[in-house]
Amino acid sequence: MAKKIYISTDLEGCSGVTSWPETHYGEKGYDLAVAEMTRETIAAIKACQAAGYEVTVKDGHEDGMNLDPATLPRGIELIRGWDSSPAEMMAGIDDSYDFAIHIG
Ligand SMILES: [Zn+2]
Repeated sequence: MAKKIYISTDLEGCSGVTSWPETHYGEKGYDLAVAEMTRETIAAIKACQAAGYEVTVKDGHEDGMNLDPATLPRGIELIRGWDSSPAEMMAGIDDSYDFAIHIG
């Protein structure tokens, strides 16, 4: 059985994100904040893949459409947007995962 890890991402809490405007589409600093969340997510993905894990990433900020899939390492599952899951920022997680990581 494959080792699996679930990564939930959020802008609030990422390095350098210090004001609310940075967390809102189109406002000052948003693009830089998303770039930082992306870098932190990529670092976590690469570390998990190097350790032999299958990786699922949930984009958990606002509408869940912040991460650009083209910028992420290949071979992951990316969950974008929202569904009716009560798990919200952890949507899709189940007991098949060994660990979870929270970015932000
Ligand atoms: Zn958020």
